Amino acid sequence: MVSRVIPVDDFDLVIFGGTGDLARRKILPGLFRRFRSGQMPADSRIIGAARSELDTSGYRAMIREAIVEFGGDEKSDTDTLDQFLNALDYVAIDAKGEGGWSELKSLIRDKVIKAFYFSVAPSLFGDLAERLHAHEIADTDSRIVVEKPFGRDLASAQALNATLAEHFDERQIYRIDHYLGKETVQNLMAVRFGNVLFEPLWNSHYVDHIQITVAETVGVGGRGGYYDKSGAMRDMVQNHLMQLLCLIAMEPPSVFGANEVRDEKLKVIRALQPVEAHHIVRGQYDASDDAASYRADVENPRSFTESFVAMKCHVSNWRWSDTPFYLRTGKKMKARTSEIAVVFKDLGHKMFEGDSARHRNILAIRLQPNEGMDLQVTIKEPGPGGMRLIDVPLDMTFADALGDDAEDATDAYERLIMDVIRGNQTLFMRGDEVEAAWAWTDPIIEGWEARNDVPKLYDAGSAGPDDAMMLMHRDGRRWRDIKG
Ligand code: NAD
Repeated sequence: MVSRVIPVDDFDLVIFGGTGDLARRKILPGLFRRFRSGQMPADSRIIGAARSELDTSGYRAMIREAIVEFGGDEKSDTDTLDQFLNALDYVAIDAKGEGGWSELKSLIRDKVIKAFYFSVAPSLFGDLAERLHAHEIADTDSRIVVEKPFGRDLASAQALNATLAEHFDERQIYRIDHYLGKETVQNLMAVRFGNVLFEPLWNSHYVDHIQITVAETVGVGGRGGYYDKSGAMRDMVQNHLMQLLCLIAMEPPSVFGANEVRDEKLKVIRALQPVEAHHIVRGQYDASDDAASYRADVENPRSFTESFVAMKCHVSNWRWSDTPFYLRTGKKMKARTSEIAVVFKDLGHKMFEGDSARHRNILAIRLQPNEGMDLQVTIKEPGPGGMRLIDVPLDMTFADALGDDAEDATDAYERLIMDVIRGNQTLFMRGDEVEAAWAWTDPIIEGWEARNDVPKLYDAGSAGPDDAMMLMHRDGRRWRDIKG
């Protein structure tokens, strides 16, 4: 199968924070893949803007190194890499001062799409927005891309939204959540709304419960200082898990348009009931044979920050009133996996004699590893000896089904950046969505703070605290195994 790449219009993309970790690890290697695929027009320009005193050739050398380190197989195509690097410029800029802004203005062309990626600390978003405006660099069609974290509670998210709104309309603001750029996440919508099979069953009458797991094997890495002030609830649940929940639970929009999709997601967040304290388990990883404890990693021996959360939530609407959603995310877990599992109800009646097992259809949507889906179905065990039933997966791993197309699969960041250039906001969070998500999350965190809640310890490399298992067992259910 041959990929159909539709080039985007000519653009100038400024990456504030262009020397930072995210730019070097994700944004620029991703843009190189888009360039190589022919999607990025050869005339388009990428301008790195950051604090370091570099010239353009120094920046190109830095990005060459980054692509060699973090890029995939495509990095061996050195001729194309040279051409790509020629599309790069660099400006040393001070977000909080006046240095570099006139030079940036002189590099930006008229009559092309202008996008500004704020890959810097959120405390600089306001300064950047203000100066882009004051120096007349941005116009009414320019787009800004902002990174997470978008606030640390409702009040700070509202303040950030208000600051950006002083200079940019909502239609110009692209709040990135890279989970929404994953192929499988978009496929989830295609599977739900493009097939007759699933939608009639997608409700409390047929779905017993839904599990969303995002498990990481890594600890806090070099982000200990940031993470210890944030924790899993702010870092993962409020944004990534909430977005996945919305896509699973939302009503079909009338058309696949940015505001129609986001209106439906917002309704889901607003329908989420407050979570009762006994429906949440907080955990923190402890040392194991070959791993240090969370507290050692963040160098805070008294930290009560959670590196794990499991919870049971309810979406209070007609479709989902009796179907619980179980969410779970953690660091230093036994395997790296992200999946959504839609667990259908048992058949009420058993017609096969002697079959006492509980057979269930499960639709599992894997975000990583091996992006794909499998549907567990019940069949007859092969061979003579009567009707014994077994459950087998109908597996659709994209790499198997789509061959080169899947191997070529665009990374979430590059896909989302191309959407910015196309002016398509469907896969970006709208301001009111982010605020609604914080409005739901805040009372949970405030409850922990008020009670001085102490997270349950779990062994690094395990499936999380035992209490998380109990959360399911109490309801006669169990988590799916965390497998890499
Ligand atoms: P980083 O610390 O590696 O880089 C920060 C960048 O900002 C540098 O290029 C630096 O020169 C620039 N900068 C700092 N102060 C400046 C100023 N006053 N004027 C101009 N430029 C200035 O940070 P990062 O890890 O690349 O993260 C960037 C943003 O992306 C942050 O908001 C972070 O929360 C978010 N983010 C990062 C990751 C990741 O994997 N690194 C993942 C998700 C979100």
